[in-house]
Amino acid sequence: MPAKTKKILVVEDEPSLVFTLQDTLENEGYEVHISETGSDAVQLVHDIKPDLMILDVMLPGTSGFEICKQVREDKFTFPIIMLTARDQEIDKVTGLNIGADDYMTKPFGVKELLARIQARLRRANSYSKTGPMDVITLGPVRIELNESQVIRPDGEFELTTREVELIRFLVGQANEPVSRDVLLEHVWRYEYSTNTRTVDVHISKLRSKIEMQPDDPRYLVTLHGVGYMLKLN
Ligand code: CA
Repeated sequence: MPAKTKKILVVEDEPSLVFTLQDTLENEGYEVHISETGSDAVQLVHDIKPDLMILDVMLPGTSGFEICKQVREDKFTFPIIMLTARDQEIDKVTGLNIGADDYMTKPFGVKELLARIQARLRRANSYSKTGPMDVITLGPVRIELNESQVIRPDGEFELTTREVELIRFLVGQANEPVSRDVLLEHVWRYEYSTNTRTVDVHISKLRSKIEMQPDDPRYLVTLHGVGYMLKLN
């Protein structure tokens, strides 16, 4: 059976770029949908359920950031590649924080865009074999529990089996304080020679993988005198 045609939604207001993208992507066998103003982009996402979205930041009316944010709030997890003007570093940070997966700075080579689309679709395919809670997004950091992997803008990190168990347990108690004793009981099951210090050491190592600034954690926070808390939106 041939592979299902992948749908790509292009949200871009520059007619010449729209033309190039549509032509190139259709030649590669993708089904292409276009939104030229951005105002109907979120509705189109709901209607066509794309496999990937190419999203310009600067659009008339609604900005690419607003669209990205709304799409993630609506629980769509397909990859989003944002298009941004040259040297808009601030855009890059903002976009990754609101759930974009990748960036292309204009002007870009179409071949490079195609390579990134393929890479993102491959990765998205491996996500879809897993349940939704097997992929956790903490700002720019993506944690794939089934793959024991952390994917960050600056690289990829392997998780140990214990770290995966620890994250799974914390996700189950998200936004609630969890004491060290509770973690010892449920994650270490009171193994021989473990104590609360064991928990602290593991939390610290885990933070270095899942937090962009482990010394000033945003998600896996310490509650002094209480324990830890995983903050999820
Ligand atoms: Ca634009």
